[in-house]
Amino acid sequence: MIKYLAQALIEGFVPQTCLSCGMPITYYGHVAGACSLCVMNWGVYEPGVVSSTLFKERMNCVWSAVGFRLSDGGSRAIIHKCKYGGEPRRVKKLGNWIATRWDPPPEGVVLVPVPIHPKRKLQRGYNQAERLAAGLGEVWDVKVDGAGLIRKKHGASLTGSNRQGRSQALKQTYGFNHKKNKSKMSPVILVDDVLTTGATLRECREILELRGRVVLGAVVLALA
Ligand SMILES: [Zn+2]
Repeated sequence: MIKYLAQALIEGFVPQTCLSCGMPITYYGHVAGACSLCVMNWGVYEPGVVSSTLFKERMNCVWSAVGFRLSDGGSRAIIHKCKYGGEPRRVKKLGNWIATRWDPPPEGVVLVPVPIHPKRKLQRGYNQAERLAAGLGEVWDVKVDGAGLIRKKHGASLTGSNRQGRSQALKQTYGFNHKKNKSKMSPVILVDDVLTTGATLRECREILELRGRVVLGAVVLALA
C-alpha cells in the first residue's frame, strides 16, 4: 500500500511519458515505459503453437518463450534502448513482463544469459541479456547463472550481417570457462535479447553440450 501511495505521489510531481511516442502514461498502463498503444505495435507473441514453431525452426529446442516481433515500426526502438539506452532497470522490467505472460520453465533449470565481451560490458555498464534473465528469474523464481559461457571476441556487432557471414564470425566468438561453471548439473535455458538466424544460440548450446550440459531451450525478447 505504501509503495503504491509513494508511486502515486511521484507520478503527481513527475508526469511520465511513453518512451516511444511521448504521450502521458499511468503507472500500470505501460510495459517498461512504453504505452499500451505502442505495445500493440510491437507484434507481441502469444504463448502457443505458432510462437513455439517459429522458434523451433531456428533453434530446434523443446522449450521457448518470446516477447515480440522485431519490426521497424515500433519494437526495434525498444531493442535499441535496451542495448544503448543505459537503463538496465527497463530491460529487467521487460524480463518481468515476458515471465508474467509465459509459464515458467521446468523445475531445476538455470537461466544462462548470452555473454557480451567484458570491454563492451564496461562501456555499457551492463549485459542486456543478463538483465533480461534477472527479470525472468525474479518472476519465475529461477536462478540465473553464467554456466561457464564467455565471449572471447570483442568484434563488431553482428546485427545486419548475412547468414553466412554471421556463422563464420561466430566461430571462436564464444568459449567456455570452467571456473565460471557453477551450476554443473542443472539443465539450461539460454537468454538473449534478439533471435535472428539462431546462430548465436546454436553456438552457445553447442559449447555447453560439448561439456555435457543439457540445453532445453531459450528465451528471447525479440524475434527478427
Ligand atoms: Zn506510446
